[in-house]
Amino acid sequence: MRADTAGGGAAGDGPMYVAAKKIYPQAVQGRFRRIKWGVLAVTLGIYYFLPFVRWDRGANAPNQALLIDMEGRRAYFFSIEIWPQEVYYLTGLLILASLMLFLINAVAGRIWCGYLCPQTVWTDLFMLIERWIEGDRRERMKLDQQPMSAHKLAKKGIKHVLWLAIAMWTGGAWILYFGDAPTMVVNLFTGQASLLTYVFVAILTFTTYSLAGMMREQVCIYMCPWPRIQAALTDEWALNVTYKTDRGEPRGSLKEMQKRAQQGLPAGDCIDCYQCLHACPTGVDIRDGLQLDCIQCGLCIDACDTVMQKIGRPTGLIGYDTDMNLARRAEGKPPIYKLIRARTVLYAAIIVFVGSFMLYTLTSRSFADINVLHDRNPVFVKLSDGGVRNGYTVRFLNKRPIERTFLLRVEGLPDTARVEAVGNAEAVGSNPLITVGPDRTREVRVLVFTPGGEALPASTDVTFQIVDLKDGERATASDKFMTE
Ligand code: SF4
Ligand code: SF4
Repeated sequence: MRADTAGGGAAGDGPMYVAAKKIYPQAVQGRFRRIKWGVLAVTLGIYYFLPFVRWDRGANAPNQALLIDMEGRRAYFFSIEIWPQEVYYLTGLLILASLMLFLINAVAGRIWCGYLCPQTVWTDLFMLIERWIEGDRRERMKLDQQPMSAHKLAKKGIKHVLWLAIAMWTGGAWILYFGDAPTMVVNLFTGQASLLTYVFVAILTFTTYSLAGMMREQVCIYMCPWPRIQAALTDEWALNVTYKTDRGEPRGSLKEMQKRAQQGLPAGDCIDCYQCLHACPTGVDIRDGLQLDCIQCGLCIDACDTVMQKIGRPTGLIGYDTDMNLARRAEGKPPIYKLIRARTVLYAAIIVFVGSFMLYTLTSRSFADINVLHDRNPVFVKLSDGGVRNGYTVRFLNKRPIERTFLLRVEGLPDTARVEAVGNAEAVGSNPLITVGPDRTREVRVLVFTPGGEALPASTDVTFQIVDLKDGERATASDKFMTE
C-alpha cells in the first residue's frame, strides 16, 4: 500500500488516515499508449454504437443485433435467441469470461486492468478531455494551485460539462440495449421515455462521472477486489511491468552517472528523471518493484523508452518481464520465458472444454419444448364407466419465428387411452393438434382418459411427446398417470 495515501504505523506516528494525493498523470507517447488508444476506440465504439446495428430475424422478431427484451423475456445476439429457460448460457459465458481472465493473468498479469477494464477505458477518455481543456501535468498542477478566477472557472466548467455529456451518453447507451435503440433515442430526447428509463440513465451518468472523472485510480486501488485475487493467482512466470534493476541501478542524475562511468564506477541506466512516475495513472514508482496499485498499463515503459532514446541508451529499462527473470538477471543469468506451463495449459484446456460444450449445446438445441404439470387436486378422477381421467397443464414452446402446429402424443398407456386438449377441436386420430404462434408459448389443459376394464397400476410412467408436422422436430416431457 502506498505510504502517501494510507496511514499506518504505531500510535502517535501520525494520523491513521490521510487524504489521497491528487495524481496528475503526464501525457506519454509510444507503443503501449497507441495500443491503449486503439483498445479505447474499439471498445467504446462497440459499446456506443452496437445498439444501432440491425439484424434481420424475419417479420415476427425484433431487428436489433444485440437486445435484452425484458418485456418479451428474450435476449437476442445476432442470430442467437435466448429464452428465459436458457439463462444458463449466460452463466456459461460468465464462467468462460472468468477463465479467460485467469488465463490472461497467468500469461501477462493485470493486462485486463491496464487495457480493457471499463474503469481504465473511461478514465483514459476523461483524462484525454481534461488534458485537452486544462493542459498537461504541469499546467494542470499550476491551474489547481491558482486561486479561483474567471479563467479557471471557465476551464473547470467546460471540463465538467464535457465529462457529464460523456457520462450521460454512456448511461443512455446502456439503456439502448434494452429496447429498440432508434425509438428509445427519440423517446429519451422528447420526454416520452418511462420514468424508470430516466432514473437508470441518471444513475449510470452519476456512476460514470464519479468513477471515471473523480475517483479514477482510487477505484483500482481501494474498491476493486481483482488486484487481491490476482495477486493470489499469479506466479513467477507471469509477465508484469518490471523495472530491470540489474540494468538501472545504481541510479542517479545523468551528470552523476556520466561522472561515475568516467571514473570506472558502476553506473546504472536510470537517470532518476521520474518520467515513469509522472506518467503513471495510479501514482506508482515502478522502480520500487511490483505493487498492487500497478494496473500494468505500460505507460511507464513508453515514458522511460522516450528518455532512453533521448540519452542514447537502449530502450527496455522498464518492460514486460517476469519475477523469475528479475531474479535470474540479478544472478547474471539470461532471461527465459515459459508461456506453456501447467497452469496455462490447464486454464486453456478448461476454456476449450467449456467453450466447446456451450457451442455444442447452442448449435444442437431444440427449437420446440414442452412442460407438463400434473393436476394436484384431484390427482385422478374415477369415471362412471369405471375408467380413469388425469388432468395436466401442458405448456408448448415454439422458439422459431414462424407459426407451428404440433401433434401431441401421450405414450406409455394402452392403445385404448384417449387424449383430449380442452377447447381444441383439431386432432389426428386421438392425438390433438396444437398451433403455437411464432416465438411464443401456449398453455393448454390436457385430459387423458383410460376406459373401464383396463387394469393399470397405481402409477404409470407416461411420456408427452410433441412433433412438428412440417419439420419433424420433437420434444418430450415425462409425468405419471395415476389411478389410485
Ligand atoms: S523514466 Fe526511466 S530513467 Fe527515468 S526515472 Fe523512470 S526508470 Fe529511471
Ligand atoms: S507503474 Fe507503469 S504499468 Fe504500473 S500503473 Fe503505473 S504506469 Fe502503468
